[in-house]
Amino acid sequence: SAKQAGKNALRFFEASMNAELDAQQDLERQLHRAVERGEFELNYQPQFDLQTGELRAFEALLRWQHPRLGPVPPTRFIPVAEEGGMIVPIGCWVIDQACAQLRRWQDAGLQVRLAVNIAPLQFAHGDFVSSVEAALARYGLEGSFLELELNESALMTDLEASARQLAALRALGVSVAVDDFGTGYSSLAYLERLPVNTLKIDRLFVDAMRNNQGTLVASIIALAHAMKLQVVAEGIEGADQLEALRRIGCDLGQGYHLALPLRADEATAGLLERAPVSG
Ligand code: C2E
Ligand code: MG
Ligand code: MG
Ligand code: MG
Repeated sequence: SAKQAGKNALRFFEASMNAELDAQQDLERQLHRAVERGEFELNYQPQFDLQTGELRAFEALLRWQHPRLGPVPPTRFIPVAEEGGMIVPIGCWVIDQACAQLRRWQDAGLQVRLAVNIAPLQFAHGDFVSSVEAALARYGLEGSFLELELNESALMTDLEASARQLAALRALGVSVAVDDFGTGYSSLAYLERLPVNTLKIDRLFVDAMRNNQGTLVASIIALAHAMKLQVVAEGIEGADQLEALRRIGCDLGQGYHLALPLRADEATAGLLERAPVSG
């Protein structure tokens, strides 16, 4: 009967909810031990100057290789780490590793900027700026080699607190990028009140360029440039998008069409191949 079918559907729904909850709690337990067990690794996706083609920077992207589950994508475990608060120690590990890698590159004579993703909870944490300062000091790095990527919700939740934090980071020489711009709750008007350096246009808009000739992206770039912001396009997957972005004056770009996220040794090889800058 329909009634019986409804009951079965409900039972099935409850069972899958419980399974989901168990999976969530299990993942949270696993995350607690992942740092100590050395299951995390950073990958590095190149960012290229779209006008000259030069490799300019990398974005550090966290990878988790679970011994039983295999690779767990960040879109799966970052939200869990944020809910349970584990993102704070994990984020500290990421910053430490990013600085360690910058140190190795500088020791090899390779000067490059590295962008690191920062979760909203991590940014809101009272010790955040001093932990960044400590990591720079630990590896004897100038802040200017580090860029921190914050999304709109991290920046907009408390505009005044954000402004203070960003000013403190800028005093260290660290630059700040707005990640996934256009997907969250912000506007360029709000951003004008925050000392950010870079706008990262979300992949969603880069995808949409296939259908709309890029007028929207072109106006974002024009406004960002008027505000003295550098623009990075995310998720460039095709030659057509690359060409359009170049034409409308986008500064930097990253995406599978240009380069995948790389292991540290591959990223180093990319830097070694890089044509020396003239002048
Ligand atoms: P995000 O910061 O916006 O990073 C860009 C994501 O797009 C990365 O996914 C990257 O691998 C992917 N991507 C790059 N090029 C392309 C492309 O051409 N096409 C498509 N479809 N995707 C592309 P990933 O590595 O899976 O990371 C997902 C998200 O997880 C990141 O988005 C970021 O929000 C978060 N995340 C990654 N690493 C960290 C970290 O160390 N800390 C924190 N808090 N979040 C992180
Ligand atoms: Mg990012
Ligand atoms: Mg992004
Ligand atoms: Mg994104």
